[in-house]
Amino acid sequence: MKHTFLTLLFLIGLTSCKNNVQKESSDDPNLVSSSQTMENNMEQDEFKVTPISHATMVIDWDGTVIYVDPVGDSGSYAGFEDPDLILITDIHGDHLNIETLESLETSGAKIIVPQAVADKLPSVFDAQVDVLKNGDYKERFDFGIEAIPMYNLRPEALQFHSKGRGNGYVIEKDGKRVYISGDTEDIPEMRTLESIDIAFVCMNLPYTMTVVSAADAVIEFQPGVVYPYHYRGTEGLSDVSKFAELVSDGNPDIKVRQLDWYPE
Ligand code: ZN
Repeated sequence: MKHTFLTLLFLIGLTSCKNNVQKESSDDPNLVSSSQTMENNMEQDEFKVTPISHATMVIDWDGTVIYVDPVGDSGSYAGFEDPDLILITDIHGDHLNIETLESLETSGAKIIVPQAVADKLPSVFDAQVDVLKNGDYKERFDFGIEAIPMYNLRPEALQFHSKGRGNGYVIEKDGKRVYISGDTEDIPEMRTLESIDIAFVCMNLPYTMTVVSAADAVIEFQPGVVYPYHYRGTEGLSDVSKFAELVSDGNPDIKVRQLDWYPE
């Protein structure tokens, strides 16, 4: 339940969005930087995200409960509804944990995975699994889900995530689009994303990318809101304040939101 107070609820598409953003920036101690405007004219919608840890989160979007990369102790999910959708990005232990999946009540859930993850899942999940290759698109529970590539670019990091194995995701409903990067660098497929309202972007070394690369990509694809996530590397936590500063300097309209992804 300690996560409850960390849960960030915000309304997308407020008609007086500008005022709300400014109010939030003074009220929300977790806010690293804020934007001046978010001039969208979307219908009101509810989107809540609760970080569990590192790459793992629970999203409640209009009552549909989405677990992203559920790993760790099942007790971490005790305060949440059972999942409708489970998105898994890759085979590594910080994204896929079969024990965790087996310990959760997932019988009503669709599980969206790349083939490399499907290959590791026990057959008990077969009927629930949707395999998406990079670029594939599937509709589930009124959501459109597109698999976005995720891979390394730096020569010294190529062995971590080869192109085609894992999936980032764009989830879309009623024209609102949420991007979850998975483990990737600032690949062209990220930089050319369009109309992203909310983005979760990784930044840790040596496995993904620097905060400088992450900020540069974010400035290019211009999400309305960006959450740094997956930012613990072998040398500790990345400098997410610097990320926020760079994004804010590059485009003050992009709002950076900082949540506590490492509560322990
Ligand atoms: Zn990872």
